[in-house]
Amino acid sequence: MERLLSASGRPSLMIIQAQIGACGTCINSNIYEGLDDVYFVAHSLAPERGILEKQPVEEMPAAEIGIIDGPICLQGKEESIQLAKLVREKSKILLGVGSCTAGSSTIGGFITEDCSRLLPFFCPFLRTRHPKAEDVVSFDYKLPVCSATQEGLKKFVKAVLDNDTAQVRYFEAPGTSTIRAVTEAEACMGCGTCAMACPTRAISIVEQRPKINGATCIRCGACFIQCPRTFFNAEALSRDKFDHSPDPHLGYYQEMYSARSRSKSTLDVSQDGGIVTDFLCYLLESNVVDAAVVAGSRHGWNPSPRVVASPREVAASAGTKYSVSPNVLGIQEAVDRGFDRIAFVGVPCQVQGVAKAMAYPFGDRHYHSKIALVISIFCMENFLFSELRSIVEGKTEIPLEYVNKMGISRGRFWVRTEDRNVFTIPVKYIESYAQKSCSLCLDFCGELSDISVGSVGSPQGYSSVIVRSEKGKSLFEKFASLIECQPLSEEGVSTIRNLASLKKTKNGMITRELITHKRWSILDTLVDIINPLP
Ligand SMILES: Cc1cc2nc3c(=O)[nH]c(=O)nc-3n(C[C@H](O)[C@H](O)[C@H](O)COP(=O)(O)OP(=O)(O)OC[C@H]3O[C@@H](n4cnc5c(N)ncnc54)[C@H](O)[C@@H]3O)c2cc1C
Ligand code: SF4
Ligand code: SF4
Repeated sequence: MERLLSASGRPSLMIIQAQIGACGTCINSNIYEGLDDVYFVAHSLAPERGILEKQPVEEMPAAEIGIIDGPICLQGKEESIQLAKLVREKSKILLGVGSCTAGSSTIGGFITEDCSRLLPFFCPFLRTRHPKAEDVVSFDYKLPVCSATQEGLKKFVKAVLDNDTAQVRYFEAPGTSTIRAVTEAEACMGCGTCAMACPTRAISIVEQRPKINGATCIRCGACFIQCPRTFFNAEALSRDKFDHSPDPHLGYYQEMYSARSRSKSTLDVSQDGGIVTDFLCYLLESNVVDAAVVAGSRHGWNPSPRVVASPREVAASAGTKYSVSPNVLGIQEAVDRGFDRIAFVGVPCQVQGVAKAMAYPFGDRHYHSKIALVISIFCMENFLFSELRSIVEGKTEIPLEYVNKMGISRGRFWVRTEDRNVFTIPVKYIESYAQKSCSLCLDFCGELSDISVGSVGSPQGYSSVIVRSEKGKSLFEKFASLIECQPLSEEGVSTIRNLASLKKTKNGMITRELITHKRWSILDTLVDIINPLP
C-alpha cells in the first residue's frame, strides 16, 4: 500500500479517523497504512481494525482533518454522540463518510446486510434506521456513498492538502439524492453510469433510461454522485487524467490524424474509416486489452452494450447506431465476466461517466481500475429508439428493418437499404427528434478519452482521429503502421474545432438559460458544467 502523504516538502498533517459506531466495517482506514500522524479513535464496542490501533479518546489531539464514519450506535448511543462531538471540536475540517453517517434525512442511518456480514458479532439493531452522525454534528464535507473507497478518501485528503478547490468541491454537497433528480429534470441521456455505480444493483436501464428498484435501493447516493450530469468539472477531470488543462474547444490533445483501415472486410462493416474496429482488433490481438465494451444491436437498430473479446465479435458490432446504448453499464458485465483490461467505446457523455468513475471512484469502486483505454466517437446529438423509428419511417418512409446503414454527412441524414437505395433528408429536419438532454451536452469530440474518432474533418470514407493521452499516443503510433494514416489537414482541424465550438455555444446558452430561469431542480450541480465555457 503506497503511503498517501509524503512527509517530505509538506507540512505534517494530523488526521483524526473516528469510528463512532460499533460496526466499522467500511474499509476506509486502509488509506492510512504507514502513516504515523493518524489518530484513530473508535467506539468501545468496535472491533480492532488490524491496521490502526485504537488510541485513547481522552488524549485526542487537535487535527487539520477529522473523518467520521459509522452511524450513531444504538448499542452505546451516548458514547457515540460524545465521540462525534469531540471529533468535531478537535478538527478544523470534518468529513462525514458513508451514507449511514452523512446521508440526508431520506438516505442516512441505514445499516445494510453487507455491514453485518463483516461483523464479528451480531448487531441486534441491524436493519433499524440509526440516527446519523449528521444529526449531532455538522460536517464541512460529505461522502455519503456506501461504502466509500480508499481512492475517494485519498482524493479528499490530497485536495485539502493542495488547497485544490475544484477537487474539494466534489465533497461539498455530494449526492444526498438518487438519480431521480436527474431523470425528473430530463437531464439524463442514458449513459448507464448510475447503474454501474449502484452497490446493490438496484438500477436497470429500461427503454434507454435508468429505473430504480425501490426494494433494493439503499439510498446511498452513489448513483447521484457518479452521474456525469452532476458535479461535472471538465477542467478538474482533464487535469486529473492528462495533467493538462483542456483546449477550450477540443479538450486536451496531442496529435490529429486522418486515417482509414486497409482491410476491405473492416470497411464493409464500419461507419467511416473503420478505425475504431481495427484499433480494437489490434488492442485485443496484441493483448493490450482482454475485452472491449461496444454497442451491439440484438434488435435491429436498437443498440445495447456488448462485451466483445475477439476480432470477430468486434466486427459484428461495427457501424454507428443513432440511438442510445447505455455503454457504461457494459463495463460491469465485462468485470463480472472476469475481464480486467477493458477498452471502452462510447459517445462523449458516456466517456464523461467513465472519466468521472476513474477520477472519483466513490461508488464505482470495482470497475475503474479495470478500464485500460477509452475511445470516444464524436457526437452532436443522439436519439431515443422510438424517435429514430419516427425519423426513418416518418421522414424517409423506409421501414427501419429494411435499412442496412445510416449516417450523417454534409448536413444530411441518409439511410441506405439492403438493395442499396439511398434516401436523404436535411439534418435540420431531424434535430427536434434528438433527446432533450443532448441540449445540455457541451462535448462534441469526447474530450476525456484517450483517443477520439469521428468522420468530420476527413475525406469521405476516412476517420478523423484525435490522440490525447500518453497511453493513447503510444498505442496509436504502433497501430498506425497497419493502416493508412496521415496528419489531419489544417482545414480538417478547423472543421472539427468549429463544430465543437458551435455545440458549446449553442448548448451552453440553453444550459445558462435553464440556470437563470431556475428551471433546473439540481442547479448546484450544473454550475461546474458551464463555468469553463470559452
Ligand atoms: C449517436 C452518434 C452521433 C454521431 N455524430 C457524429 C457527428 O456529428 N460527427 C462525426 O464526425 N461523427 C459522429 N459520430 C461518429 C461516427 O458516426 C462514427 O462512429 C465514427 O466516425 C467512427 O467511425 P469508424 O468507421 O472508425 O467506426 P466503426 O469501426 O464503425 O466503429 C464504431 C464503434 O462505435 C460503436 N457505436 C456505434 N453506435 C454507438 C452508440 N450509439 N453508442 C456507443 N457506441 C456506438 C460501435 O459499437 C463500434 O465499436 C456519431 C456517432 C454516434 C453513435
Ligand atoms: S445521465 Fe447516466 S448516470 Fe445520470 S441518471 Fe442518466 S443514465 Fe444515470
Ligand atoms: S450529444 Fe452529448 S449527451 Fe447527447 S448523446 Fe451525444 S454525447 Fe451524449
